[in-house]
Amino acid sequence: MHKLTKDEELYLLNSIRTIKDFPKPGILFRDITTLLNNKDAFNFLMNHLEKRYKNYNLDFIAGIESRGFIFGAALSAKLEVPFVPIRKPKKLPHITISQKYSLEYGIDEVQIHIDAFSHIKDAKVLLIDDLIATGGTAKASIQLINQTNAKCIEACFLIDLKNLGGSNEIKNMTEIYSILEV
Ligand code: AMP
Repeated sequence: MHKLTKDEELYLLNSIRTIKDFPKPGILFRDITTLLNNKDAFNFLMNHLEKRYKNYNLDFIAGIESRGFIFGAALSAKLEVPFVPIRKPKKLPHITISQKYSLEYGIDEVQIHIDAFSHIKDAKVLLIDDLIATGGTAKASIQLINQTNAKCIEACFLIDLKNLGGSNEIKNMTEIYSILEV
């Protein structure tokens, strides 16, 4: 299983900016726009994900709105695997299924198109997002994928805020790959 060395982890970590008290007091916001803005770091990350997942025989990659779209869609194009967006309410135009969840800073809901994975039986899905905090968003997203008769075989996060316990929340639902643990 392809993983990063400590030096490579540090390189990626240093490309991510941390903003204090955003979007509200007490939150240390991990700002991945600085990684995206650094062509070498972004390219390094995407090549790493390509190496890790190229032999997984994935049927789909599902990305969580909105930062999961960036990494998920880029990986989909590299691996030539279709991409499925998991979105905030009232964004998807066709029939959807929904799941509510609590966030590190509020309550929210995710939705997926009911037929997103329907053209492949028992589709193997990789879920991807930039960060796991309390795990609410990821848990709701895995539930959505599994409710459509597909199977979330791994959840991949660029950053795992370990002390918020999110990966513990979902560890019985799927395999987890967190590139950076903070
Ligand atoms: P959670 O459901 O608590 O695991 O929250 C994960 C979602 O919220 C992800 O989509 C993240 O992009 C976003 N998020 C939560 N906490 C942070 C944080 N400290 N910095 C950046 N994004 C965050």
